[in-house]
Amino acid sequence: MLESTATISRVEFSMEFPPGHVSAYVLDGDEVILFDTGPASMSTEQPVSFADQCDYALEEIDHVFLTHPHPDHVGRLRELVEGSDADVYAPLTARDRLSRPLETVTDRIRDTIAQSGFDRSEREQMYDDETHLQRWMRTNFLVDAVDHWLVDDQRVTVGERTVDAIWTPGHHADHHCYATTVDGESVLFSGDMGIEPFRAVLLNNRLDREYHNAVVSYRRSLDRLEKRTIDRIFPGHGPVHDAPLESFRDDRASLDRRIEGVSDALVDGPMTAADVSEDVLEEAHAMHFFPEILSTLTYLVNRGQASRERDRDLVYYAR
Ligand SMILES: [Zn+2]
Repeated sequence: MLESTATISRVEFSMEFPPGHVSAYVLDGDEVILFDTGPASMSTEQPVSFADQCDYALEEIDHVFLTHPHPDHVGRLRELVEGSDADVYAPLTARDRLSRPLETVTDRIRDTIAQSGFDRSEREQMYDDETHLQRWMRTNFLVDAVDHWLVDDQRVTVGERTVDAIWTPGHHADHHCYATTVDGESVLFSGDMGIEPFRAVLLNNRLDREYHNAVVSYRRSLDRLEKRTIDRIFPGHGPVHDAPLESFRDDRASLDRRIEGVSDALVDGPMTAADVSEDVLEEAHAMHFFPEILSTLTYLVNRGQASRERDRDLVYYAR
């Protein structure tokens, strides 16, 4: 049985951001499958190509499964598409999201930032970063190269293997994990879920409104993963590990602490989202974690545990 003899190779790239690396995985067998493609080249320190880092020639790869359209996971998709005949699989919602007119998206991002309470230079920096990322995704997440768009939880047959796509939004609004059986073990290629020893930030679709449901989506994603038997996780960051339930439990606890921290900060309200960020985040994390702060504030408002009011150009939150 081919599945019992397959091996998994980790293809690791260095990254500027913690934890300093991101991994893709090659699963061999009658059909060779790659999960994620490594990061966009962001510095000269990084190897020039995916092929440099991988023991397989690009043309040996038959299938590429993408967990979510963040630059550190789909950054070298173009190289894979140009260097192989691989079939590419990705979450359908990513196509729909990226087909939205850019101006509509950037207008919404501008609105979100404008009412946040950051000062002018922070707002400009944030807008530049966010719109740069939106443009990057439209250029480098090659929608036309995707052969199979995956919807919700879906089983895919690849040669003699089945791969279960598991719908897991929250960290990103278009996130799938992929489960299959290798050597008698249930394994999960988890992208930015089930990472040890930390939880990936809740970004969903960042400042383009999907922050509204990130907390609920993320918890439901954990529910869905916890129902499965998983022996080993192959995450995008951190070590391969065999403690999925502990990892998911830690992720829940980490999110609970975030919600509690934001709720506690609101005792001093009414305050803007920028005030809350300043209160609960280290300064170095402010920009990166801001979508999670907004998600948490919206979660509290939707549960009746916080109020939100607009006063002139700004939005204020209170308990
Ligand atoms: Zn990610």
